[in-house]
Amino acid sequence: MIRNCKLEEISDGRFYGLQDMVKVGCGDCKGCSACCQGMGKSLVLDPLDIHRLSVRLQRSFEELLSDTVELNLVDGVILPNLRMVGEKEQCVFLNEEGRCKIHSHRPGFCRIFPLGRYYEEGSFSYILQVNECVKSNKTKVKLSKWIDTPDLGKNQEFVNNWHYFLKDIQKKMVEAKEDQVRKQLSMVVLQLFYLAPYGQEHFYEEFQERLTKVKEQLSC
Ligand code: SF4
Ligand code: SF4
Repeated sequence: MIRNCKLEEISDGRFYGLQDMVKVGCGDCKGCSACCQGMGKSLVLDPLDIHRLSVRLQRSFEELLSDTVELNLVDGVILPNLRMVGEKEQCVFLNEEGRCKIHSHRPGFCRIFPLGRYYEEGSFSYILQVNECVKSNKTKVKLSKWIDTPDLGKNQEFVNNWHYFLKDIQKKMVEAKEDQVRKQLSMVVLQLFYLAPYGQEHFYEEFQERLTKVKEQLSC
């Protein structure tokens, strides 16, 4: 989700890379689940997030849509996000003890929090969003360790490619003169990257194949 705000209002003004130390250590979130509540529709899920959930829960995308994931418009494109439920509007995966039920398979957004991504000129850096995590006295952690993601090189390439592909799709949405064309574009994205399951292994390679094919078809 693209946010239009000034960097100095939300961050410490620095750009971080994987080898940098960043002040995010929050004592394993003990006693806190603030960022797993009241997030509205902002926890947007990419194809890897859905793949991880499908593997962990042994459920298809259609099954996830019945109770844990919902579809919404994000900058003109229909994309899935995590559901918030109950009086406290908390993430559907938060348990009674205030812990994440799917910690090892949690989405990318949850892995990087309270970091955000700043995209520029075909790549991205991380920023530290200073108003997001409520814990004080945070400790410094190496960014690559904080993200806690295997195959980090491939993962970063995937994140970047997905972002810029969505930007191309969003541009096509704006240029499209008919609703029908916009609907078709959204359906292509949903069908190809979310509904069609990926094998248990080699997600990144499968994703890249699909991406190359669709970019040729759509000329983007
Ligand atoms: S707000 Fe900070 S300490 Fe609280 S759950 Fe989120 S990351 Fe952990
Ligand atoms: S998936 Fe887990 S870490 Fe992410 S918001 Fe839900 S409960 Fe919190």
